[in-house]
Amino acid sequence: MMPLITLLSLLVLGAQAGHGVEWTYSEGMLDEAHWPLEYPKCGGRRQSPIDLQMKKVQYNPSLRALNLTGYGLWHGEFPMTNNGHTVQISLPSTMSMTTSDGTQYLAKQMHFHWGGASSEISGSEHTVDGMRYVIEIHVVHYNSKYNSYEEAQKEPDGLAVLAALVEVKDYTENAYYSKFISHLEDIRYAGQSTVLRGLDIEDMLPGDLRYYYSYLGSLTTPPCTENVHWFVVADTVKLSKTQVEKLENSLLNHQNKTIQNDYRRTQPLNHRVVEANFMSRPHQDASTHLDGLEHKAHNESDEPLQPPVHYEVVKSEHREPEHRPRGHWVPQGVKQWLKSDDQQARSWDRDSALSDRILLEAIGPGERPPSLPAPHY
Ligand SMILES: [Zn+2]
Repeated sequence: MMPLITLLSLLVLGAQAGHGVEWTYSEGMLDEAHWPLEYPKCGGRRQSPIDLQMKKVQYNPSLRALNLTGYGLWHGEFPMTNNGHTVQISLPSTMSMTTSDGTQYLAKQMHFHWGGASSEISGSEHTVDGMRYVIEIHVVHYNSKYNSYEEAQKEPDGLAVLAALVEVKDYTENAYYSKFISHLEDIRYAGQSTVLRGLDIEDMLPGDLRYYYSYLGSLTTPPCTENVHWFVVADTVKLSKTQVEKLENSLLNHQNKTIQNDYRRTQPLNHRVVEANFMSRPHQDASTHLDGLEHKAHNESDEPLQPPVHYEVVKSEHREPEHRPRGHWVPQGVKQWLKSDDQQARSWDRDSALSDRILLEAIGPGERPPSLPAPHY
């Protein structure tokens, strides 16, 4: 139950805001805490994004791989727009996704969510065991039983979003993203559009699309309609630091401020069940960081995958940009320690004081994880 005073202030604010006020994530009268004023669904009980908690996820091996058609190289035109909240690429309806239950969805658009503000770390919307990734990619689809996106968006089974999380690989440019990133400067101002010619969307997604989380949620922006079947891929996309920084710093919103931190906070699960067709995360961690030999040795031991990557807990009074941890995966022990220090395990979130004081840095593969230092400030 909402305290009366909050309710009253919301009503007053709502009257002031009126229609036509642009929603935002953190500034002005319609920041995300106030979205429900103008868009009541944003206060609903099956909202997105959520924290994907491995220990709560229900393993469902019968979920088959998503079947993507027409995602490969297409030589047509892909209009790309700065809509003031993100960059959005229009997709042809020749691109479709068929889910495990046989439902066919047609692609409509893809867009991105990122972080990048000076006091910020990462900007994915979904988090995995409390960890926020650097960027999140959303490919929005509508159910092919409807005639158009406009029709489907009002229907309870109207939409599906294929989501992918991005990790940073410091110096390796992802050439599949070069065209997209080089055209961001054409759409610096909100409302500007350009056209990308010839794009391979499949290449812009994770290499392995077999494993994913699946749950029922909503749009993560107003009007927050609760009709989205979410598919969050377990494998990640890798971009270079430079590419990530380009995305974080190229676009301006309607107030001519750089679009940064365009992600919504995670929402309550409210008894929903998140399913996944894998038990331990099959890709990131292990295949990203292990060399072949270690990987092999590991597989032979038949134990659950545990990345032999070292992380060091570094004491720091302030975050420095060059040390900003970018969605690094953190070993279980560190996570537990963070959790015991911060019940919500929001150590990487923008609200957490913890992230101001702690930096986790990968110090390279090869050895057994060190015992964890005790927290001391
Ligand atoms: Zn989105």
